[in-house]
Amino acid sequence: MSVRAGQAGYKRRSSFLPYGRQWIDEKDIEAVTAVLRGDYLTTGPYVPEFESKLAEKVGARYAVAFSNGTAALHAACYAAGIGEGDEVITTPMTFAASANCVLYQGGTPVFADIDEQTYNIDPRAVESLITERTKAIIPVDFTGQPANLAAIQELAAKHGLVVIEDAAHALGATYRSRPIGSISDMTMFSLHPVKHITAGEGGVIATDNELYYGRLLDFRNHGIVREPSRLDQAPPGKWYYEMQSLGYNYRLTDISAALAISQLDKLDAFVSRRRKIADTYNHAFREMSAIGIPYQEQFGESSWHLYVIRLDLGQLSVGRDDIFNRLHELNIGVNLHYIPVYLHPYYRRLGYPQGLCKKAERVYESLITLPLYPGMTDEDVEDVIAAVRQVIGDCMEESVRR
Ligand SMILES: *Cc1c(COP(=O)(O)O)cnc(C)c1O
Repeated sequence: MSVRAGQAGYKRRSSFLPYGRQWIDEKDIEAVTAVLRGDYLTTGPYVPEFESKLAEKVGARYAVAFSNGTAALHAACYAAGIGEGDEVITTPMTFAASANCVLYQGGTPVFADIDEQTYNIDPRAVESLITERTKAIIPVDFTGQPANLAAIQELAAKHGLVVIEDAAHALGATYRSRPIGSISDMTMFSLHPVKHITAGEGGVIATDNELYYGRLLDFRNHGIVREPSRLDQAPPGKWYYEMQSLGYNYRLTDISAALAISQLDKLDAFVSRRRKIADTYNHAFREMSAIGIPYQEQFGESSWHLYVIRLDLGQLSVGRDDIFNRLHELNIGVNLHYIPVYLHPYYRRLGYPQGLCKKAERVYESLITLPLYPGMTDEDVEDVIAAVRQVIGDCMEESVRR
């Protein structure tokens, strides 16, 4: 293929292609409008129905729904007993919420560097950071590829730590043939519109642990209890309740839960479409030496929330940001996941230094996220491939010419 130099020859899409997008069909719309015509808008029958369906889907005994995934992570930290002075080890290659939830509880996030192939947290880095103050590990299944959960579980067992898996990217993924959601002490899923299924906003914790389950329920609803066995005094009437702990209003609405139930029916189809698009990308980019396609571990099967390429900047005439901007100009909605969390100004002001996780910082410099969502047509996928080939091809040629 001959490569044209310069922007003039580029084929620009007529409409902007986002990096992610929800899929809503008539069934979803009917499910939501049925709630609007019914008796309850919040805390009705749809939330427990969604919880039991999701728990079954991911192979967990319990699921507790929250108003969003961040609230769910906060609740999990509470349930795990994270408090002042406790350390929790997580990855920098994630959305800020994976670490913020520790701060909410007065704990200290500790960042362990990533594996440079999978971009997931490196269990050896985790081990080197464990102290007597460490209480939990929050691995993130980055892009939908499960983290090295066996190694993390082994460390947790050895040191008495709780594992809170941030599986915001990994609903529908499997690890050693088991569904994500059935492995860690608690597993969080997000129902944000760019994630695998959506409720508008929403989040879930899946767990097998009855004690955590009870604490999650309390935390979601102000710490209010009604069961007579948990009250300080005999209830004077049916109306009576007591606030026994400090919780929040983190409830999911029935409107959202009905949408989530309807979406859950489509999860398998969503994931298989995502896998197919990822396969097409892999096939198209495998032969391009300046592009590293996502490395996949054999022990897990990704649910492909994100498709992330790594640029070999040594072969290119311009940096990542230029490539990013050129793709954006062609109406390809590329994105970037993630700025290492501790490089955000808030974390820097807390004292986390640049250079803390060298691999994460190096990888971050060369990543670009390509559009990937089930509603993409084959033509959309081809547009992305053509644009990447043009832009990368040009930058390689310019690099050779220099
Ligand atoms: C989306 C996401 C969250 C937060 O979920 P919300 O539902 O948006 O609050 C947490 N962690 C990761 C890795 C995410 O991608």
